[in-house]
Amino acid sequence: MAFREKNFDTCYEKGIRMLARPVWPLCNLLILLYLAAEKEGLEDLAARMPEEVETQGIIYEKPAQVLKPYLPALKNMEILRGGGGASPDMPAVFSTEGQVLDMFDSLVACTQQAVLERELEKINSLLCGPCSCTLCCTGPAPDARQEYFEIPLLEHEIRLFDLPRIDSASSRACGPEDDPAFCVDGHPFFEHPPALYHWSAGWSMILPRGRSCPHLQEAGTCGIYPERPRVCRKPQIFPVVVEKPLRGVKDSRMIRQNALLAVWDCPYVKDLKEKILDYAGINELKMVFRENKA
Ligand code: SF4
Ligand code: SF4
Repeated sequence: MAFREKNFDTCYEKGIRMLARPVWPLCNLLILLYLAAEKEGLEDLAARMPEEVETQGIIYEKPAQVLKPYLPALKNMEILRGGGGASPDMPAVFSTEGQVLDMFDSLVACTQQAVLERELEKINSLLCGPCSCTLCCTGPAPDARQEYFEIPLLEHEIRLFDLPRIDSASSRACGPEDDPAFCVDGHPFFEHPPALYHWSAGWSMILPRGRSCPHLQEAGTCGIYPERPRVCRKPQIFPVVVEKPLRGVKDSRMIRQNALLAVWDCPYVKDLKEKILDYAGINELKMVFRENKA
């Protein structure tokens, strides 16, 4: 930890470099070129970019290479030309005031969400490693106000955890935030050891105070790292350009929030607050810092 505090510019170097040069302005430029061109596709236009491009005051070296991992996320824009690569189930996007956005704004918002999710997943991996931190894999501290930590899981991910499963009509009719709390054998669920619960919104692993994920190893590493659940790959800085109205509710609508959320408990979020604010500014998103484990 002392090493991190003294040298965070050095140990976070690669992540800081990515935060300072977000890919979205370059994607925006490519989208503009695409809309101005008659026939050329996104890949061809990206490949024809010069060795160095400047946009929004940022210089990108080898822009074709920078853009390559994000081209699948940009494919949705092809819907504007009636191209074949767009997702057929493009959701309707609404403003926070409830007005439906036009096709162009909806596509841009969903595309920016997809691009930033990809970019921030990478940035998170670069920043998390040097922290020697296991906060995401442990329940709240024994003296914390919060009683449990929830790790949402997809149906196919529950096989990764050899833990008791609570899957009943009553668990499936409620959620962990319900008041009064869902009880197992007469006790609130969070007073039991770690277990998997099937809620109305889907499965999650519940880690009570002072307990950790069964895959957290003594060295602080994950025993199933290559296979770890999707949520464990998610960053502590994440885009909320658009979001679903409610988790678990079958509703294809999205709401445009234009926000960047960062979890304040995470050590690299605290260390890099100013750089994260700059990243939000370049992406034209409002910044929200939130505490997860109180
Ligand atoms: S699966 Fe791995 S990354 Fe996810 S909570 Fe458990 S130890 Fe942490
Ligand atoms: S809180 Fe941050 S540094 Fe700690 S494990 Fe989670 S992502 Fe990594």
